[in-house]
Amino acid sequence: MIKEDCIFCKIANGQIPSNSIYEDDDFNVILDVSPASRGHALIVPKVHYDNAYGMDETFAAKVFPLAVKMAKAMKKALDCDGINILQNNEEAAGQTVFHFHTHLIPRYKDDEVDVTWKQHASVAEEQIAITKQIKEEL
Ligand code: AMP
Ligand code: ZN
Repeated sequence: MIKEDCIFCKIANGQIPSNSIYEDDDFNVILDVSPASRGHALIVPKVHYDNAYGMDETFAAKVFPLAVKMAKAMKKALDCDGINILQNNEEAAGQTVFHFHTHLIPRYKDDEVDVTWKQHASVAEEQIAITKQIKEEL
């Protein structure tokens, strides 16, 4: 399904031009318009999903193989030193475009891209409680 007034629906389906580096029946992979680094790309499904939660498992299973294919080609083409593959769900997690997409961010030694977070000590009892809570939802 395509969502009315969704910019990534339009881009993925070619209604708005983009720098597309790969296309198949399910996806367009485009260069990010405001790249974090040289070659920053986005895997964008042609059908609309707000985020990962609404995605069926069959479709979701197509995303990572494509991410791997793209990462291999980008590594060769860009001669980068690493690549972050990441994906944000909901505003609190940094999502700004509410059409599911996966970032491929080439990394270069000493670049100033920031995808880090502060680490905290874990508490054993709390880890056990979290483990139980999540397992109960599966
Ligand atoms: P996120 O914060 O994970 O939702 O990422 C949204 C990404 O989409 C950002 O990196 C934006 O720079 C990028 N973006 C927004 N509009 C466009 C556009 N028209 N074409 C390409 N990339 C876009
Ligand atoms: Zn959309």
